[in-house]
Amino acid sequence: MDMNTAPIGRFAPTPSGRMHLGNVFAALIGWLSVKSRNGHLVLRMEDLDTQRTSEGYAQILRDDLHWLGLTWDQETPPQSQRSATYDRYFEKLADLGLLYPCYCTRSQLHNVNAPHLSDGTYVYAGTCRNLTTPPPDRKPAWRVMVPQKVYQVEDLCQGTFIQDLSTDCGDFVVRRADGCYVYQLAVTVDDGEAGVTEVVRGMDLLGSAPRQMYLQDLFGFPHPDYGHVPMLLAPDGRRLSKRDKDLDLGQLRTRMTAEELIGRLATAAGLIDHYEPISAQELSHHFRWESLKGEAIYLNSL
Ligand code: GLU
Repeated sequence: MDMNTAPIGRFAPTPSGRMHLGNVFAALIGWLSVKSRNGHLVLRMEDLDTQRTSEGYAQILRDDLHWLGLTWDQETPPQSQRSATYDRYFEKLADLGLLYPCYCTRSQLHNVNAPHLSDGTYVYAGTCRNLTTPPPDRKPAWRVMVPQKVYQVEDLCQGTFIQDLSTDCGDFVVRRADGCYVYQLAVTVDDGEAGVTEVVRGMDLLGSAPRQMYLQDLFGFPHPDYGHVPMLLAPDGRRLSKRDKDLDLGQLRTRMTAEELIGRLATAAGLIDHYEPISAQELSHHFRWESLKGEAIYLNSL
């Protein structure tokens, strides 16, 4: 991390529901990291999945971020409006000779014999790489070939993370059979074009960082710093998720102030020693990545 130049960070929420505590926590840490160094924050709605996302949720998200005091400096166009831009990068991969059509069905892909990564994604065996006769009347998804290359992430929170793209991931889909671009391509293009230097998000996306670094290499974008913040767990060890309605902001905002919520998260994460209500702004004066716990954070009742 270059401590001398002001970082450019981003919030990249998916407007498919109310923010839950995990989203709040990742947004808070991303904001603190950037704002404690006078950086710039970009907001981008990740609404590639037009079935599940809506502008209504996007509005609520902006309002929730305001309520939390997590300001941003610029909002870039949502992903649903950027397919023409993604087309250009898709063409670039085609020109490099790295794309091929994949006709594998869902059940072939989820074959129980296929090795799976810890986050549940499978390692693609390369079945369609050398396909000579494509099945008739079926639209293909498009995969990018990966090299035998080890990517190393020096994560601000998780330390060193290593992934060999060919054995731990395999060739991955960049465009689905219905023509939609996938998250890995869109996020790489959006972060790259916005000049993002620091990506802070939940730990569940650590395994995606090497794929994004590979695409950054192909597109000519520098690698940003990564900080994958720990998951928040209920006292019984359960991962908090969108299903925990009582812990989404719609509920929490009726029960406590933003300062109380941020104070609880900051105490659980080890950023302050004793609980006190605190604003994001005040907390930014105490923020250091070294104080943040890297492993799962247990949240007692809120
Ligand atoms: N849109 C993703 C989410 O809401 C975050 C993706 C990212 O930060 O790269 O979980």
